[in-house]
Amino acid sequence: MTHDVCIIGGGAAGLFCAATAARRGRKVVVLDHATTPGRKILISGGGRCNFSNRRVSAENYQSQNPHFCRSALARFTPDDFLALVEARGIAYEERRHGQLFCVDSAKQIVALLLDACRDAGADVRWGVRVNAVAHEDRFAVAHEDRFAGATSSGEVLANRLVIATGGLPVPAISATDFGLRLARQFGHGLVETAPALAPLLLPANERLDLPGIAVDAAISTDAGPVFRENLLFTHGGISGPSVLQASSYWRPGQAIRVDLLPGRDLAAELAAARGNKSQLGNVLGEFLPKRLVKARLPETLAARPVAQLGKADIAAAVSAIKDWHLHPDATDGWLKAEVMRGGVDTADLSSQTLESRRVKGLHFIGEVVDVTGWLGGYNFQWAWASGFAAGNAV
Ligand SMILES: Cc1cc2nc3c(=O)[nH]c(=O)nc-3n(C[C@H](O)[C@H](O)[C@H](O)COP(=O)(O)OP(=O)(O)OC[C@H]3O[C@@H](n4cnc5c(N)ncnc54)[C@H](O)[C@@H]3O)c2cc1C
Repeated sequence: MTHDVCIIGGGAAGLFCAATAARRGRKVVVLDHATTPGRKILISGGGRCNFSNRRVSAENYQSQNPHFCRSALARFTPDDFLALVEARGIAYEERRHGQLFCVDSAKQIVALLLDACRDAGADVRWGVRVNAVAHEDRFAVAHEDRFAGATSSGEVLANRLVIATGGLPVPAISATDFGLRLARQFGHGLVETAPALAPLLLPANERLDLPGIAVDAAISTDAGPVFRENLLFTHGGISGPSVLQASSYWRPGQAIRVDLLPGRDLAAELAAARGNKSQLGNVLGEFLPKRLVKARLPETLAARPVAQLGKADIAAAVSAIKDWHLHPDATDGWLKAEVMRGGVDTADLSSQTLESRRVKGLHFIGEVVDVTGWLGGYNFQWAWASGFAAGNAV
């Protein structure tokens, strides 16, 4: 039997694409080697799935072509997904920075996707691994099958093939590089991949022994925006939302800059507090954890009364607290990353349909594509939007 559409990967993008295409009357099969549906969705957002964000624009994504995602994001917006969430009566809440979460459980998003596939008549098969795909170009003219997938449960034929195999993070829950290999097989370029939205590991001489301590911080890299959110000290380095965001822009060998008192002009405050006889360490300890202040300021400086600080002392304090340079060794890798940076080069993909310009009928959607969202629901919104774009084209 030849299907109209075969989708490899039944994650967020694959299932949403399947429901969209099947609703248009296409005969759709989804193949996924995982035996349990939606495992990545289930662990997302701490089990509550940060399924989208109130404000989504191309600026919230990284890609070699920063404009590529615009078209798909404009045609399926956060409001469109919210309408589906509301229609099912799923309770949701808006958290900081417009982040949209389920109030109860990520299971509700998985159920929404599976029911949408079932209602539309898509055939979703779990425990089926696709090992290889052949493109039977000669059949194109005769409108017969174009793609033959060799799977763990036999051959699957389809006129259109959608690759939705996701990125490389969390191999333990079935991530593979199959989509990337397939892209190369069909002549597509790959943008170098790396773990993103990941904790950063610091060299021993830069690590602070403060595991579990979290502070508000603004973090910047050479290339990316400044991210102001929590920074969490870990055994091996630093984590927390501001660090995860910055990690997507950080490159090996580069420094990151940390401001531990964002939004405050420490130099001006210290200069204006000339009458204050308290020790500098104690004054800063009112705004920051005392152990952190101790770790950042030389003892002699921390012990000086603010009233006696000279210009050089103030500059040293400001540098230690507001312009702290760290030189990470690496990110914490694929086991801890939330998303993959890089992937299938968008240069040979249509931004409208996500179809390959090299092989007709072949589409790439979701995280396997070189479109990487910030923390905050942007990666799921890309999965929905790219799945919707391809689902309407296949
Ligand atoms: C811990 C964690 C938390 C996250 N939290 C959030 C969040 O709250 N909000 C947000 O926006 N994003 C979050 N993300 C990122 C988000 O989950 C992904 O970007 C999104 O799931 C990507 O969807 P996808 O469909 O492209 O890929 P995936 O969801 O990874 O799906 C790919 C599917 O392909 C299957 N597959 C792979 N190879 C094969 C093969 N050869 N044959 C058959 N099947 C195959 C896999 O089994 C998998 O089911 C989180 C990620 C992690 C790891």
